[in-house]
This record gives sequence, structure tokens and C-alpha cells, in this order.
Amino acid sequence: MMSEPGKKKSECAHDKLEYLGDQKGERGVNKYYRCMRCGSVLILSEDGTWYEVPASKQQ
Ligand SMILES: [Zn+2]
Repeated sequence: MMSEPGKKKSECAHDKLEYLGDQKGERGVNKYYRCMRCGSVLILSEDGTWYEVPASKQQ
């Protein structure tokens, strides 16, 4: 882990998304996308909140 406090690593706008599918979560259906630029996975929850899973943290 090489995190730099105060400096955001993610500079990608995630404006090129590939739809992966959806998955039922605890609070509804989450929609999964993958950014075609940086490879991060973006999750859109039922209430409209975006979550980001950096490519380095994916399994
Ligand atoms: Zn991105």
C-alpha cells in the first residue's frame, strides 16, 4: 500500500463505462460498470450513489 495522504490518486473522470450487469444488494439492485480508461469498477446503488472500486483492489 502506497497511499499519499491529501493527494487523490484517482484522476480519471470515468467517462467511458462498460456495463457489467447488476447484482442484488442489501438495499436494492446495484449496477456495475467498469471504466474502460482506468479499469476501476463503478457501482451505482439503488439510491443513486456511486461507489468506486479501484482496479488495484479488485480480486
Ligand atoms: Zn476511470
